[in-house]
Formats: sequence, C-alpha cells, structure tokens
Amino acid sequence: MKVVHTFEEVRTVAAGRVGLVPTMGFLHEGHLSLIDRSASENDTTVVSVFVNPLQFGDEADLDAYPRDLERDVPLAEHAGADVLVAPTARYMVPHADMASIRVGRVGLVMEGVHRPGHFDGVATVVTKLFAGIDPDTAYFGRKDAQQVAVVTSLVRDLSFRTVIVGCPVIRERDGLALSSRNVRIADDMRPAAITMSEALFHAADLLEAGEDDLGDLMAAMREIVARHPETVVDYIQIADADTAEPMDHLAGSQFLAMAATVGGVRLIDAMAIVDRVPDRGITLDAPSILYRKG
Ligand code: AMP
Repeated sequence: MKVVHTFEEVRTVAAGRVGLVPTMGFLHEGHLSLIDRSASENDTTVVSVFVNPLQFGDEADLDAYPRDLERDVPLAEHAGADVLVAPTARYMVPHADMASIRVGRVGLVMEGVHRPGHFDGVATVVTKLFAGIDPDTAYFGRKDAQQVAVVTSLVRDLSFRTVIVGCPVIRERDGLALSSRNVRIADDMRPAAITMSEALFHAADLLEAGEDDLGDLMAAMREIVARHPETVVDYIQIADADTAEPMDHLAGSQFLAMAATVGGVRLIDAMAIVDRVPDRGITLDAPSILYRKG
C-alpha cells in the first residue's frame, strides 16, 4: 500500500476501477468493513484520512478528535487498501474564504439542526475528494444514515459520476456502534452509551412484533435511554432514507436515527428500516481494535 499526501499522487497510482473510502482516521472495524467491500469490488481502493475542520462547529471537539496515522496505515493495508491519502489541512482547506458547497434541506434536518453547517462541511470535502480522485464508487457507513442521504443527493444534484454505496453498521460486542470517538467514553459512562443501541434494538424488536405506532415506538426508546440521565438525547427520529425528511409512519426505505451526548462525547447511531424490516447491523464477536494497545 502506498501512503501519499496529494490527489496527483493518488492518480498516478490508481488504475482500473477505483473505489474510495473517505474517513477521518483512527480506524476501526466499521472503516475496515468499507475498505474490505471496496477491495472486493474494485481494482484500486483509495482510503482518505482527513479530520475535516469544516464539519466541526466546536473547536474543542475538533481538537479532541483522536488521530494516529501510524496506527491507521497497517490497518488500512491489511483490510485491502492500495493507496492511503492523508492530505494536510492546508491542502484541503487552502484558505478561510474557499469555495464551498451548500447542501439542501436533506442536510438541514436532524444533525443539521444540532450541528449547523456540518453537512456543508462534509459535502465540500467530499466534493473535493471526488474532484481530485474521481472514484467510480465511494463507500459510506449507514451509522451516519443522514450523511449517506446527503452525499447521495450531492451526487445526484451536481451530476458526479461516482456511485454511492451505503454499508451496514458495525457494532461492538455490547451493541455500541463503532466510532473513533468511543475511545473517549470513560468506563463509568459505558452503560449510558450502550442505552442508544439498546433503544434501537428494542425498537427493532417492537417493529418485528408488528408495532406500527411510531409515537409508542419512540416513547419506548426514550424510556430506555432515560434509565441513564448521563445520556442527553438530541433527537430520536424516523426519516426517509433518501430525503432525511422526518416521517410519522412506516413506509419504504427509512432509517431510525438518534444522537446523544454521553459524558461530553457526542454519539450517533442509526438503523435502516426497509419495508418495515429493521437492520440491526453486524456485531463483532471480539473486542474492537480501537482498544488494542501498542
Ligand atoms: P468517520 O471516520 O467517522 O468519518 O467515518 C468514515 C466512514 O466510516 C463513514 O462513511 C462512516 O459512516 C463509516 N463508519 C463509521 N463508523 C461506522 C460503523 N460503526 N459501521 C459502519 N460504518 C461506519
């Protein structure tokens, strides 16, 4: 695997069908599942590692985001990446007044309400990655279900040729959706964090039992999360998978998304629901590499 820092270098290495996996690094099995999928479907898999300042509203959150490129390189290589591009902040954001993308309503609801400008920042950097690398396919995780909707809309609205593929949520053994941020969750906050996946799984059980009153479903979820007052919920919402528009009934392709702050760490989780059938994702059967020492 080649480690490079510019798109020019990526283009000299990339050949045949190119798959791109955009990440912010500090890789875990969620990222590795995307790399593995790309490697199985493409001739060249490019992984980008860039902690995108444009998508952080909060400077302290940006500073606290975990970073370790030396750790990421062998993990990406082992998962099947051919090129890892780690551009500098100056390369990606050359000046404060750079041109940028403004997303539509798909990026203004849910996460967009709680993190104003977040998806504009995501879309600007994704646009730059697509312009510089020109991938055939790009892989995104459905943990960030609204992000999949935003990027899919971006591609459609601006006529990018890249195909967007949404991939299943990968979970730790206790159900917590993998996130690089999980390393910041204190041990005594873990039970509070886990209420998020417990609530989603309970919703899945209810859906499978035929529940179709989404008010009752959401109330049951809130009850589970409320067992730990340290879990401060921003939203729990069912939305249309394509538009991210909140929905009050079950129909077609949807996702159930939630966001909460637990002990100062902001976490999100989501579950796809297609024709009333929930998808809990994939749970690891061993401790995550996130916590591997040395
Ligand atoms: P991030 O580094 O958090 O920006 O994530 C990079 C990509 O990995 C995004 O497409 C995420 O949706 C995806 N991803 C992050 N966590 C998971 C997970 N637990 N399962 C599946 N995909 C994930």
